[in-house]
Amino acid sequence: MLIIGITGTLGAGKGTVVDYLRTQRNFAYYSVRQFLTEEVQRRGMKPNRDSFVTVANDLRAHHSPSYIVDELYERAAKNGTNAIIESIRATGEVESLRKKGSFVLLAVDADPRTRYERIKLRGSETDHIDYDTFVANEKREFDNPDPNKQNLQACMRMADITLLNNGSMEQLHAEVDRFLGELKDDAPAHRRPSWDEYFMDLCHSVALRATCNRGRSGCVIVKDRQILVSGYVGSPSHLPHCDEVGHLFRKTLHEDGTVSTHCVRTVHAEQNAICQAARRGVGLEGGTLYCTMTPCRTCAMLIINCGIQRVVADYKYHAGAESEEMFRQAGVTLDYIHNEVLEYQNK
Ligand SMILES: [Zn+2]
Ligand SMILES: [Zn+2]
Repeated sequence: MLIIGITGTLGAGKGTVVDYLRTQRNFAYYSVRQFLTEEVQRRGMKPNRDSFVTVANDLRAHHSPSYIVDELYERAAKNGTNAIIESIRATGEVESLRKKGSFVLLAVDADPRTRYERIKLRGSETDHIDYDTFVANEKREFDNPDPNKQNLQACMRMADITLLNNGSMEQLHAEVDRFLGELKDDAPAHRRPSWDEYFMDLCHSVALRATCNRGRSGCVIVKDRQILVSGYVGSPSHLPHCDEVGHLFRKTLHEDGTVSTHCVRTVHAEQNAICQAARRGVGLEGGTLYCTMTPCRTCAMLIINCGIQRVVADYKYHAGAESEEMFRQAGVTLDYIHNEVLEYQNK
């Protein structure tokens, strides 16, 4: 999937590029103008250029600078095919879309006189203006430093490619094809995941089968870069799950007077992986354990006594300091993928 955002000056030929991509290259089409037309009508405003600018700036200020195009990107991504978003007008939009990936910004431009003649010929309801007004309108949009407001010139500077459209439609079509061809050549090579990424991804898949929503955690234990066993958090076999009958809470009073709440219905993911090894007669000595967050105190003790040498946790557990200290004393290496605490409710 490739999502092309189109930016460019008025009358440059964005519409021609869009038509070509839609009809000849099977791109799906998502339009800010359509989005705004609906909103302008809903607010009972006149459908002219000023209304569009006012409503667009208002939506961007109230939601986020990139609200409209973010909505359109979501629709395009859900559809999953190559798509065009017309048009990109604020720098905040470009920044947001770039973060989402699979995104290319295409700018279309042409000489101002040529563009003015084109929009006069087009004669749409928003375009009945003289050349000076046309130039003045543009200058207003060009000069705005606010990332929430329209700034075509700044957007065009951010474009991955700019097509100059001073010639014929055939020339423009050829330019579009050249640009699509270059994209294919530049397609990023497949990136092979590292071993830690590979096993942590498997750990995430295993965790999907967890049955306690206080932390749907998973665990994979590997040795010599081969998977030995896996486990996820859930009740002992044949006993009801939290997802079916609710949690089974116990409060723990700590020495400093604080009280924490724990669900004790479940066997932890790490414990289930160790149980699987016990059932199958698999030695875990010298292995590496991948898990969702810092193992709890009990799991940490079991891990140490299984002879596991390294633990890789995706996130930190808010009460993981004790386990960290035990691993340190026992000589078990503990690595984090993300150096942040995983938050969940009612901990
Ligand atoms: Zn539970
Ligand atoms: Zn545990």
